[in-house]
Amino acid sequence: MGKEIYIIGAGPAGITAGIYALRSKIKTTIIEKISPGGNMLITEIIENYPGFPDGINGIELAERMKKQFLNLGGEIIKGEVVDIDLKKERKTIFLSDGKFIDTDVVIIATGSSRKKLGVKGEDVFVGKGVSYCAVCDGFFFKDKTIAVIGGGDSALKEAIYLTRFVNRCYLVHRREQFRGSKYLQELIENNEKISPIIPFVVEEIMGKEKVEYLLLRNTNTDEKIKLEVDGVFISVGQKPNVEFLKGKLKSNPSGYLIVNEKMETSIKGVFACGDVIKKDLYQIITACGEGAIAAFFAEKYLDSLD
Ligand code: NAP
Repeated sequence: MGKEIYIIGAGPAGITAGIYALRSKIKTTIIEKISPGGNMLITEIIENYPGFPDGINGIELAERMKKQFLNLGGEIIKGEVVDIDLKKERKTIFLSDGKFIDTDVVIIATGSSRKKLGVKGEDVFVGKGVSYCAVCDGFFFKDKTIAVIGGGDSALKEAIYLTRFVNRCYLVHRREQFRGSKYLQELIENNEKISPIIPFVVEEIMGKEKVEYLLLRNTNTDEKIKLEVDGVFISVGQKPNVEFLKGKLKSNPSGYLIVNEKMETSIKGVFACGDVIKKDLYQIITACGEGAIAAFFAEKYLDSLD
C-alpha cells in the first residue's frame, strides 16, 4: 500500500502540510468542513505575508494556496469530523455523514474560531446587530454607528475595516493598553471615525427587535454608561476547534494542543499545526511553517512503519 496522509482542516497550516506531503509523493487528502482558507476567508487584507508588497485579499490568498495544493494532485473532501479513534496504530476518523476513514497518519489543522463575549443579549441579537465577522457583515452597517469589542489584532483590524462603511466606530476595550500591534494602534489613532472607549467592558447588549445600545461598565471606577449603537462586532479572541477530539490529545487548559518541535502531539502518528496548537505567535506565516514541519515529520513517521 502506498503512503497516505489525511489532514483535517484546509487553512494555511493544513494546505501547506498538504503541499509538502504531495511533493514527497505521498497521497494526500484534506478533510474540510466549510471551504478551504480558514480564517483567511474572513480577512479583508493580509499585509504581513511576504511576497505581496501591497497586501493580498484573504480570499485570494486562500484560493491561490488551494490551487497550488490541487495542482500537485491533492484531494479536498468536504466533511465534518465528529470523532477520531486514536487507540490503535491505524487511526479512524469519523465523519458526520456516518462515513469513516482509516489512516496511519493524521495532521490536525482545524484552527480556531471566535470566542463569544458571554453577556446578556449576545445570543438573542446574533444576526440582529451582533456579529463575529466584520468582513461578512460590515456592509450592512453603511452610515451607521457600531462598536467593536476587544483590543487585540483582530479587533483593531476589524475596527479599521469597518470605517469604510460606518459613520462612527467605538472601540471598546477592557484595559487602557491595546494588545494589538503598534502598527495597527497607530492606524487606529489616526482614524477619525474610531473612538476608543477604555477601560470598559460590556455588561449587556440591549434593544427591542435589534441591537440599540450597550450597557458598559468602567473597569476602574465601576461607572456604568449606555452607548447607542446599531451593531456590535465581537472580537475578543479565539478558541481552538478541538471538539471532535473529546480530550484525547494533551492540551493546555484553554484546549490548545500541545506539540513538540516536530509538531507531534501526545499520540504517535498524530501531528498538529496552525492556530489549533499552543504557541506564542498566531499568524498565517507561522501556520504555514508549522504545516511544513508537520508534513516533514509525518513522512518520517510513515517511513518508520515500513
Ligand atoms: P487576542 O490577541 O487574544 O485578543 C483578544 C482581545 O479581546 C484582547 O484585547 C482581550 O483583552 C480582549 N478580551 C478577551 N476576553 C474579553 C472579554 N471577556 N471581555 C472584553 N474583552 C475581552 O485575539 P485576536 O485579536 O482574535 O487574535 C488572535 C491571534 O491572532 C493573536 O495572536 C493575533 O496576534 C493574531 N492575529 C494577527 C493578525 C495580524 O494582522 N497580524 C490579525 C488577526 C489576528 P486583554 O488584552 O485585556 O486580554
